[in-house]
Amino acid sequence: MTLPIETERNHALLEWYAERGRTLPWRLTTDPYPVLVSEVMLQQTQVDRVVPHYERFLAAFPTVERLADADFADVARLWSGLGYNTRAKRLQETARIVAVTGWPKTADALAALPGVGPYTAAAVASFAFGERVAAVDTNLKRVLGRWHGEVLNGQALAAAAATDIADDAASWNQAMMDLGATLCRPRNPSCDECPVAAWCAGPDTYEPPRSQPRFEGSLRQLRGSLVRRLVAGAASIDELLPAAGFEDDLVEEALAGLIDDGLVVEDEDGYRLAD
Ligand code: SF4
Repeated sequence: MTLPIETERNHALLEWYAERGRTLPWRLTTDPYPVLVSEVMLQQTQVDRVVPHYERFLAAFPTVERLADADFADVARLWSGLGYNTRAKRLQETARIVAVTGWPKTADALAALPGVGPYTAAAVASFAFGERVAAVDTNLKRVLGRWHGEVLNGQALAAAAATDIADDAASWNQAMMDLGATLCRPRNPSCDECPVAAWCAGPDTYEPPRSQPRFEGSLRQLRGSLVRRLVAGAASIDELLPAAGFEDDLVEEALAGLIDDGLVVEDEDGYRLAD
């Protein structure tokens, strides 16, 4: 009897993952809290940089309740070096909700939490709660596009992911991340080493992502430096303006954005990190 192509391909993929998958600290647990911490850290940061931050963060805040109770300044201090501090703020907001209401156990319900988008929700739902749902990010989009021989977006991408996913969604999502990171790279994929080459249309299907704006001199860089300064304690506008090294109106714009995002508050002493 001929097996469906998805079954044969997934069998080869999961066998490869069992033998060659990367050993990462968050893969040693199905507890939703460390899984969520790792996924939020990984949203815009490379694996190698995330590992030491993840270990320090969990040593300081080993449970969702400890993170919920922490001062945001301590959270921001441990987040320092990962960038995108809004992620840390939203993660703590989520911890404060979950500490009271408990964990939502489906991707749809998880996606209602602060800072938890569809990808992160699907990753946590599959890794922690065993839901059969694909964690669709740019890696998965690229690999699926190559399997199917066409750039997939929107409904077509969701449909392909739903058809191709294995019953063991957690292992499948992890295996696809590893395949995309180690063999099916954006440029120069290693098709001759690939466990699923027999069921793939080939590497030509690839749509390069839009290039990232420059970090140096950006508002993002300024926001990060202001948060790092405020980790040390409250500061007045007169202290922040000269130290920032940017035009005054840009510093004020950055502070306004940090206040809007709930990371910083302004009071009679000047500016400080939110609680
Ligand atoms: S055969 Fe090549 S293009 Fe296809 S999944 Fe493997 S590495 Fe990617």
